[in-house]
Amino acid sequence: MKLAFIGLGVMGFPMAGHLQEAGHEVTVYNRTISKAKAWVEAYGGDYASTPALAARNAEIVFVCVGNDDDLRQVVIGDEGVFVGMSTGAILVDHTTASADVARELAVIADDHGFGFLDAPVSGGQAGAENGVLSIMVGGNAVIFKRCEPVLQAYGKSIRLLGETGSGQLAKMVNQICIAGLVQGLSEGVHFAKRAGLDGEALFDVIQHGAAGSWQMVNRHQTMLANEFDFGFAVDWMRKDLSIALEEARNNGAQLPVTALVDQFYAQVQKMGGNRWDTSSLVALLERDEDRA
Ligand code: NAP
Repeated sequence: MKLAFIGLGVMGFPMAGHLQEAGHEVTVYNRTISKAKAWVEAYGGDYASTPALAARNAEIVFVCVGNDDDLRQVVIGDEGVFVGMSTGAILVDHTTASADVARELAVIADDHGFGFLDAPVSGGQAGAENGVLSIMVGGNAVIFKRCEPVLQAYGKSIRLLGETGSGQLAKMVNQICIAGLVQGLSEGVHFAKRAGLDGEALFDVIQHGAAGSWQMVNRHQTMLANEFDFGFAVDWMRKDLSIALEEARNNGAQLPVTALVDQFYAQVQKMGGNRWDTSSLVALLERDEDRA
């Protein structure tokens, strides 16, 4: 198929690569053009100088940019993909954004005769590079069926969860579940250090029991070593939690722990941890320990 991919960040770069490797003809766009050139060098395919030009003739256009405003810019901006897309083409948005912006773009897409799916992902940089992302999708079932085989290039678990916005709502649940869990793990790591336990041995045992989690398996070693350069950044997490907390204000959900952990992340940012990974909550406890 002729495809376009907009946004070659940590996630988009390898995701677009998987599409090209699967035999599709991919045209990419990236705001910083050097990354688009690097992508063509790595995978072949083509690059365009605007989102609209990349989207021309594409059957499916994929987007993976930062937040709601970035998304609006590359989709409905003067040179956005909606200017270039043809009737019947589909936009698949992988950005973690609000459910409201998904609904807004779906209405505009419909007016133009385009399909739209909100399809945020989970699995991090490693998931994107290895092509094993979880993809949570909202939108029309017929459009989903057309896109599903293409998404398999980088998705391991792909699910249509309901109408437009459902993918973003599902991603909010994902982030809500992570927030409290990482704080609990941080407190466990911190306590283990204070108690003088052998952290390596300890987590090697308990990761196989009821307290085990992906975060414990993959992050306990780096957390014990106070290293925070392993994936999803605190700035991104705060963006995601603010989306979830805003949605909760609208639907009445109670998120006391999520709201608290969001404030802990704000303190990590004040420590200079904007680009640290999300397990850096433990650094806050260790810092408070230094002060004690
Ligand atoms: P990233 O590395 O910071 O890349 C962001 C991409 O968006 C870059 O290509 C950037 O272009 C582009 N962009 C941002 N604002 C733009 C604008 N106004 N106009 C045009 N292009 C713009 O981010 P990422 O880690 O790939 O994350 C992308 C999305 O996936 C985010 O919504 C994030 O929350 C979500 N996500 C990330 C992860 C993860 O582990 N990283 C996991 C799951 C979901 P430039 O190159 O020019 O800056």
